[in-house]
Amino acid sequence: MIFLDAAATTPVRREVLEAMWPHLAGEFGNPSSHHSLGDAAAAALAGARSAAARALGCRPGEVTFTSGGTEADNLAVKGIALARRAADPGLDRVVISAVEHPAVEESARYLERSHGFAVDVVPVDAYGLVSEEALAAALRPETALVSIMYANNEVGTVQPIARLATLARASGIPFHTDAVQAAGWLPLDTAALGVDALSISGHKLGAPKGNGALFLRGRTPLEPLIHGGGQERGRRSGTENVAGAVALATALTLVREGQPKRAAHVAGLRDDFIRSVLAGVPGAVLTGHPSSRLPSVASFCFPGTSGESVLLELERQGVICSSGSACAAGSDEPSPVLVALGIEAAVAQTAVRFSFDATVTAAELAEAADAVRTAVGSVRALDPTLLGPN
Ligand code: PLP
Repeated sequence: MIFLDAAATTPVRREVLEAMWPHLAGEFGNPSSHHSLGDAAAAALAGARSAAARALGCRPGEVTFTSGGTEADNLAVKGIALARRAADPGLDRVVISAVEHPAVEESARYLERSHGFAVDVVPVDAYGLVSEEALAAALRPETALVSIMYANNEVGTVQPIARLATLARASGIPFHTDAVQAAGWLPLDTAALGVDALSISGHKLGAPKGNGALFLRGRTPLEPLIHGGGQERGRRSGTENVAGAVALATALTLVREGQPKRAAHVAGLRDDFIRSVLAGVPGAVLTGHPSSRLPSVASFCFPGTSGESVLLELERQGVICSSGSACAAGSDEPSPVLVALGIEAAVAQTAVRFSFDATVTAAELAEAADAVRTAVGSVRALDPTLLGPN
């Protein structure tokens, strides 16, 4: 089997399992307990926080561990917007891009539905990029927060985050970025990026599902979403997932080593794969930006097919990939991300995403490109009506 769905999730790395294991078994204490087992757990949690902070270029106190990317996004979007409006009732708008993950989009819609905020959506160009001009046009004196993702999960387009963050912050508006897909491939130095908040998720990086973190700069105001015992400096109550935090910190540290070289290597393989697919499949269209894209994502539309049928055919040939994002899979609706790029709904239904981890090889991708040619050919042959008028 060739696994080309790493943007959905990754297997847990052996080093990560080994690092977390002691905190599940022997050293199982509660970090809030005042005895030696509790102290050991608190020390492990502090160590994980420091390691995560090193990877994010921030102070340990600026890292909040969460149950994953979704919670980190919810905490940033709702938490910052609600806290800012509590301090100034005039701040009742949030700005997001048209290609956000549902964790950000739905958090903004919740603010609109239940808290009377207005949501301003910044459009993207045909490659999925947000321009500085488009963001500038969306900013208002009432804007409480801007949230624009670092890299898109469906088409891999990478946004000019440092420039967009500078623009928002010049108007005194906190800037959050969802870096769930960027982590492991792009620099995560929050100081260089100039962001106020940044979300990451462990299971995209070789840690288990169900853990993530939110970087929150210095005194950025935040209304917690989970109330209780005041853990995580009151930002996120609940007994901490010590083993999960250790796993996330270990995975973050591992992916940081040799990251630029690994990213360049995988980007080269990705480009060869894209070329092979475009050359081998008549009518195939690359979605997303041709160069400002994640090294790990190659995404296409194959007009005259349905994405789901191509997916099934590819799986029969031993290639595992996705017909869009894992969250949208199984839905009949065309992907809102592809629609935002101006892709016709009927074409958007033919989307297939291939996403790689760092272990992918040229031989695997050559085999996968052959499989794509065969799979698209057989789906088109099976149902010629799918070809449509063109
Ligand atoms: N944001 C992006 C861009 C993602 O791709 C994902 C997961 O697919 C998430 C957020 C949600 O992360 P998690 O699965 O950890 O909740």
